[in-house]
Amino acid sequence: MIPVTKPFLPPLKEFNEYLERIWETQWLTNNGPLHQELEQKLCKYLGVKFISLFSNGTLALITAIQALKLSGEVITTPYSFVATTHSLWWNNIKPVFVDIEPDFLNIDTNKIEAAITPQTTAILPVHVYGNPCNIDAIQKIADTYGLKVLYDAAHAFGTQLNNNSILNYGDLSVLSFHATKVYSTIEGGAIISHDKKTKDRIDKLKNFGFADETTVVAPGINAKLNEIQAAYGLVLLKHIDKLWAKRKSIDSLYRKLLNKVKGIELLPQPKNAKVPYSYFPILINNEYEKTRDELYEFLKSKNIYGRRYFYPLISSFPTYRGLASASIANLPIANQIANKVLCLPIYPELQLEDVDKICNLISDGYNRS
Ligand SMILES: *Cc1c(COP(=O)(O)O)cnc(C)c1O
Repeated sequence: MIPVTKPFLPPLKEFNEYLERIWETQWLTNNGPLHQELEQKLCKYLGVKFISLFSNGTLALITAIQALKLSGEVITTPYSFVATTHSLWWNNIKPVFVDIEPDFLNIDTNKIEAAITPQTTAILPVHVYGNPCNIDAIQKIADTYGLKVLYDAAHAFGTQLNNNSILNYGDLSVLSFHATKVYSTIEGGAIISHDKKTKDRIDKLKNFGFADETTVVAPGINAKLNEIQAAYGLVLLKHIDKLWAKRKSIDSLYRKLLNKVKGIELLPQPKNAKVPYSYFPILINNEYEKTRDELYEFLKSKNIYGRRYFYPLISSFPTYRGLASASIANLPIANQIANKVLCLPIYPELQLEDVDKICNLISDGYNRS
């Protein structure tokens, strides 16, 4: 069976060494030594100033919205994982959906201004598949209208633009370290901030709002990452460059083999960027012999499990579909893409022979069967 993604588990021996340290200190959670070490090492690895670790990406998003004191309406994309919009809902904020652009499938910055109302407090874009959003255009709009920018960077671990981490843009960025993401602490996440004061505030918010033993300064939540997860993250970080290289080679082979298949479109590669190769989306258009769903089912029958990320769109779920901005007329590109997209398997242990096999099935093999 070939799943769409598969976590790389770090060698048990290396993990054990860290576990022994935990058993020695008997410090299990609440900003322990491994948690602190992981924050330092991630800052260095990612090239960011401040990071606050979280128990998952969704709580990091919910807390980031609290930290920015957002309210009213927030402009966002329907083409993402549901947690993006759920984080607004949990903060009693109305999501306002804006369509995506057809190249990288990120929020279309030409359509943001028309969605701004007096209630708008922020823009919540997603670096979909780890490809950078149009950060300059987004910042310009935010500056003009006095809005905050919160990036859902769940896919963008290691994404760089002109040798600078994409996480350095916007007011805050949020990462997810879920087991299915390129870098993981099994469950986990983080908020990237740009100054110490903001980090301190976020650190309080993720720990009930405690400033010290007896002072509670805000209605915080419990979203702490424990020492065992930090240990897992520290071990995995030692392997991350090697894993990235494997993903890159898989991406290159897919591009080479699928480049000329009729009816299959590939996403472009962003210029001056380093990307994590976290997903390999293809778009199945009318020229392809069968529909997207037929190809999806066919691959499944061969034990190859692609995923239709992102289908259905967030805007089509019952919670959101009643919003004016959720209409298909408002989101034509996102609706088209959601019906065409299929993400193919990509993970470090995927063999190049299997990539070859998958591509054969998509091109000639499929027609013959
Ligand atoms: C995975 C993901 C999240 C949620 O992260 P969790 O760590 O699973 O809570 C949020 N946004 C996007 C775009 C994601 O892919």
